[in-house]
Amino acid sequence: MPETILITGGAGFIGSHLADRLVKEGNKVIVLDNLVTGRTENIEHLLKVPGFKFINHNVSEFISIEEDLDWVMHFASPASPVDFEKLAIPILKVGSLGTHNALGLAREKGAKFFLASTSEVYGCPQVHPQPESYFGNVNPIGPRAVYDESKRFAEAITMAYHREHGIDTRIIRIFNTYGPRMRVDDGRVVCSFLSQAIEGKDLTVFGDGLQTRSFQYVDDLIEGIVRLMGVEFHEPVNLGNPVEFTMLELADVIKKITAAKSEIKYLPLGQDDPKRRKPDISRAKELLDWEPEIDLEIGLKMSIDYFKSLSKLSS
Ligand code: UDP
Repeated sequence: MPETILITGGAGFIGSHLADRLVKEGNKVIVLDNLVTGRTENIEHLLKVPGFKFINHNVSEFISIEEDLDWVMHFASPASPVDFEKLAIPILKVGSLGTHNALGLAREKGAKFFLASTSEVYGCPQVHPQPESYFGNVNPIGPRAVYDESKRFAEAITMAYHREHGIDTRIIRIFNTYGPRMRVDDGRVVCSFLSQAIEGKDLTVFGDGLQTRSFQYVDDLIEGIVRLMGVEFHEPVNLGNPVEFTMLELADVIKKITAAKSEIKYLPLGQDDPKRRKPDISRAKELLDWEPEIDLEIGLKMSIDYFKSLSKLSS
């Protein structure tokens, strides 16, 4: 049965891939985005699809929607560490006021609610890998706090609306995700290294490059999201690829697949940069029969053409 699904942040990197998938499955999708980091290019191809609608609006302001809704999926938020300084207050607002408004809309419409949370709720983790039961290690006043704490608040208010108002909610914690449609000025490590390698520049490694991340291709994430929509489960679910790389190892993989001659340029590490990050995905495996299928080299190869087109635009 086709559903009517509102996606906040649906013109962003992950939101637009989700919109594609839900449209492909025959649903009526409404994208609400204020384009602070989202881009109309990401959804241009959907504008001609019957039933698809784009609303240019900031979810942190009151939302009024004519249509009946089956789902409110809250994906809006700048999410890159470079945004944490530039967009500190909009990030705090979208995680707090925006989540409140999106939950209020879901309640008004009798819709289900889906929150995109983040591995950043674990902060600089002292438990490795990170299961959902870990409460995290977040500096509440550091530069990353604007994102980490607003997402922690978003999870808290989502659970409160579930408990108090009986809203049928879902929460995912998304680990590092990459793929086509990331912003050229995104600043995240896969974007930076790929663009630098394509342009023959040095790869900028922050710190000693021994910090780790686990990188998930966007299609794997979307599959996990769609599966969770079909299961009534209210506690958070980690969605990420558990294969862990140091930043120096990532640099090597990117140099190999681009055949770049780039050297490594070491730059200072940002404050509170998590030392290690890797999801424990036992819950998603058991609940959703889900695990990532696309390994890093394959996913990066599938992303190269997109990053090459960005390099051409910026040169
Ligand atoms: N990083 C790096 N060079 C860059 C960008 C990032 O070495 O040009 C490092 C960063 O310090 C962090 C890791 O890569 O340890 C992942 O950073 P990213 O910004 O992609 O996201 P995060 O996982 O920190 O949210």
